[in-house]
Amino acid sequence: MNDARISAPLVTDFDTVIVGAGFAGLYMLHKLREDGFTARVFEAGTGVGGTWYWNRYPGARCDIESVDYSYSFSPELEQEWQWSERYPRQPEILAYLNHVADRFDLRRDIQLETRVTAAHFDQRTGLWRVATDRGQHVTARYCVMATGCLSLPKRPDFPGVERFAGDWYLTAAWPREPVDLTGKRVGVIGTGSTAIQVIPQVAREAAHLTVFQRTANFSVPARNGPLPAAEQQRIKADYPARRGISRDSLFGVPVAMPAAPQRTRDIPPAELRQMLETLWAQGGAMSLLAAAPDVIVDPEANAIVAEFVREKIRATVKDPKVAALLCPSTHPLGTKRLCLDTDYYETYNRDNVTLVDLRATPIEQITEHGLRTSAAEYPLDVLIFATGFDAMTGALNSIDIRGQDGLSLKQAWADGPQTYLGLASAGFPNMFLITGPQSPSVFSNMVVSIEQHVAWIAECMAYLREQGIACIEASPQAQAGWVAHVAEVANSTLMPQTDSWYVGANVPGKPRVFTPYLGGVGPYRRHCEQVAARGYEGFELIRRPVAA
Ligand SMILES: Cc1cc2nc3c(=O)[nH]c(=O)nc-3n(C[C@H](O)[C@H](O)[C@H](O)COP(=O)(O)OP(=O)(O)OC[C@H]3O[C@@H](n4cnc5c(N)ncnc54)[C@H](O)[C@@H]3O)c2cc1C
Repeated sequence: MNDARISAPLVTDFDTVIVGAGFAGLYMLHKLREDGFTARVFEAGTGVGGTWYWNRYPGARCDIESVDYSYSFSPELEQEWQWSERYPRQPEILAYLNHVADRFDLRRDIQLETRVTAAHFDQRTGLWRVATDRGQHVTARYCVMATGCLSLPKRPDFPGVERFAGDWYLTAAWPREPVDLTGKRVGVIGTGSTAIQVIPQVAREAAHLTVFQRTANFSVPARNGPLPAAEQQRIKADYPARRGISRDSLFGVPVAMPAAPQRTRDIPPAELRQMLETLWAQGGAMSLLAAAPDVIVDPEANAIVAEFVREKIRATVKDPKVAALLCPSTHPLGTKRLCLDTDYYETYNRDNVTLVDLRATPIEQITEHGLRTSAAEYPLDVLIFATGFDAMTGALNSIDIRGQDGLSLKQAWADGPQTYLGLASAGFPNMFLITGPQSPSVFSNMVVSIEQHVAWIAECMAYLREQGIACIEASPQAQAGWVAHVAEVANSTLMPQTDSWYVGANVPGKPRVFTPYLGGVGPYRRHCEQVAARGYEGFELIRRPVAA
């Protein structure tokens, strides 16, 4: 980076612009304010909450337990908020995030209904110039992208969709007003984690539900239920210890990393069976992965656990043909997001539910009155698209981000994201990413990963202020090393082989790169701490010019 270019006085509208007001943007704002920085949050939605503002579809809920899928930064908040269920529904998580916005008086620095369209780094001043769709232009020394890993939904691109005379909905942009499906013939396209939540709910309401499945996914029962006050009190009495275990763990959940992990294939069959039965009875996708983490590395371990889940599917679904279609056969367990459900497989025992195999009979087109596959036409009143997201990079690439010498982020990432620690990208000084590509992000309890990134970024900014440093930028060498390390870890697992949104396979033309870091939340955190402790090793730091 050429420090001679940063010469003009640093007069800014804000110290920091934060893009997005979900879990990440809200905490980033609070933390920066606490540390004496000014900040402005821009959020495209009409309310705060991010994921939980947009995804209002029936059955939407988190798949990490409420007591763990929540902020830990405020012991008071942690103690006072009461969760009603083990896995809370979307309205409850949204209410929690609104409570956080009010409790910490965040709203006065959040501008809603404002989409950031461009962020350009001005080399002369060393400032970011940020433009919005409201025609505003503001400057800030730092730009923090809290834009979300799963915030840009894929639009339905099936031929004929514009001709459909019924109502259609995107799960990730579900209307705020209630949608009445009573007595309707409904089609759901997709069988990923969202669809697995939607399908049982819609089946209860609709006259008939047709599920269009391309890929059968593995799902584990949630065993959701009320969270009794006494149980919650017991957890809260020991909250710091529980949070500590999550921070040091593989996936950000309170399952300690074993010192000497036992290989699944070495566990005597009867003991392993007992362990899997217990995990199945307890419920929880992350607990299953955390108990047998080698399933994503060892094909033999994977085959054992995958067959256990298939057995459960066959035991639940009464029609053997439907059960066979629901048994995943195209990918190892866990290499696509492992889903969590309530009554998903049971739903296929209902008389008003039909499963259509799109591999055998692909969609030809959506017609005025329904959907036509290569084998049949299905009359429908309502279509629900649960077709996923342009994950990890979609929201970032939709902003015109330009760094040094006008370099666009989209160009820089044309062959896949290039980041150092998933926190920053070479060529883009003073820009930080929260849960960016190549950090544990979507392969973890994201609230734990968000809190870790927010704390790291805030500490970094405080250090720069203290040391009189104007700019921080990831060095290309450190970045190349990190990208190679992330790929090496991923390639030592079964993950990259599967066509999943983790590798961008769901978006035509997207470079195939495995994006989350699989080294584990705990080891990753320690590595980031070490980088900071060594004076931000791997970053180039440029001192502020001394005024003449
Ligand atoms: C249905 C669903 C269920 C999930 N369940 C879980 C779960 O159980 N456990 C888990 O760990 N994770 C889960 N996730 C992942 C979830 O996204 C994260 O847990 C978390 O909510 C991310 O918070 P965030 O603030 O980083 O991003 P988001 O919540 O996605 O917020 C980003 C915000 O940025 C805004 N934004 C983006 N671009 C712009 C722009 N250019 N200008 C202005 N605003 C912009 C968006 O409108 C959005 O509101 C789930 C995701 C989905 C979609």
